[in-house]
Amino acid sequence: MEKAKEYAAYLDEKDQLSSYRDEFYTKPGSIYMDGNSLGLLSKRAEKSLLHSLEDWKRYGIDGWMQGDHPWFYLSEKLGEMLAPLVGAKSEEVIVTGSATVNLHQLAATFYQPKGKRAKILADELNFPSDIYALQSQLELRGYDPKTHLLQAKSRNGRTLDEDDIIDLMTDEVALVVLPSVLYRSGQILDMKRLTAEAHARGILIGFDCCHSVGAIPHYFDEWDADFAYWCNYKHLNGGPGSVGGLFVNSRHFGKKTGLAGWFSSKKDKQFDMEHTLSQGEGTGAYQIGTPHVLSMAPLIGSLEMFNEAGITEIRRKSLYITQYLMDLIEIELVGNGFFIGNPREDECRGGHICLEHKEAARICKALKENGVVPDFRAPNIIRLAPIALYTTYTEVWETVQILKRIMEEEQYKKFKNEREVVA
Ligand SMILES: *Cc1c(COP(=O)(O)O)cnc(C)c1O
Repeated sequence: MEKAKEYAAYLDEKDQLSSYRDEFYTKPGSIYMDGNSLGLLSKRAEKSLLHSLEDWKRYGIDGWMQGDHPWFYLSEKLGEMLAPLVGAKSEEVIVTGSATVNLHQLAATFYQPKGKRAKILADELNFPSDIYALQSQLELRGYDPKTHLLQAKSRNGRTLDEDDIIDLMTDEVALVVLPSVLYRSGQILDMKRLTAEAHARGILIGFDCCHSVGAIPHYFDEWDADFAYWCNYKHLNGGPGSVGGLFVNSRHFGKKTGLAGWFSSKKDKQFDMEHTLSQGEGTGAYQIGTPHVLSMAPLIGSLEMFNEAGITEIRRKSLYITQYLMDLIEIELVGNGFFIGNPREDECRGGHICLEHKEAARICKALKENGVVPDFRAPNIIRLAPIALYTTYTEVWETVQILKRIMEEEQYKKFKNEREVVA
């Protein structure tokens, strides 16, 4: 056991990203394995938020045009900083809205039913908010979601087979919306292949990147995807309710957006206050109203760190540390009723481990009592996310030792096997 712990310490010593841990507010005595749900606060994010407050204090309304990060251009500025993380050009990315609001905007724009090509194709494993948004978009156009929303089925309840999705890409489908990384099993879909297959059939396609942005590299320009959207509070550590992001392929620039507002304007025309909109040229057009500046400000500091560390290096460590976690689970927890539900191959798994157990809800409560913050997803999933920028190999080792103890001592039996209100 001492040897195994020494090995974890050795991996920490060799970790090229280890210096970033000090940039975050980690809690002594607590192991945070939930950075895929809400990333931790970094000192740089705190600083950039305080800086924006200071600008408000100092400049009042002139903060829109003055200070180091004038608020009027902040959405575009952050889009530029995000572009390398999704493999896009600066003007193709903007920080605005939230994941769900951005899906509404993108569906309102890209879902153009014509004759019998009027269906939307999604899947049965996606996050409910995406499905609700697509259902309501169909209803707004007078279609019944029961007939017009197709949901590709999973063969095993965990993952999707790209072939099954492609089989549903018929000439009745106008739009495909899929997750990049599945929020429960952590599966990465083959976005390149799905995009090519959709386009070959005259169908537009977009991706929900909530669980992939900041965790894995994307090559949206190379893949030629039509659009993508995501939240910035998970792997990107933008803070609770942080403003979301979206990508639109420059091929579509100039297209009239579905939901307009005065921030959809060309910047230099916005204050002409005309009743005819001069729509912005790039993704700026996909904004609606005044940006939530204080909910964007932490991203300035956070994205600076991502660009400094580089998504390639982040992914390299993420693959290594999640593999290490899986290896330890298999060695230490064998015979305890656990099942690793995420795909094993590197190219098919995202930034978290999906650990299944029939007592998952109360095992999570026992983990919390032991100082480990996991993430429960009903009915039987414990999500564990060692984060490249702030989780150590030693913490991963400790987490598995704690899990082992919880099982051996049956500590979980103290708790009810039910989820909390927020799980
Ligand atoms: C977290 C998450 C969301 C959340 O959407 P919000 O609009 O930010 O509340 C949506 N989709 C997926 C796949 C998610 O993981």
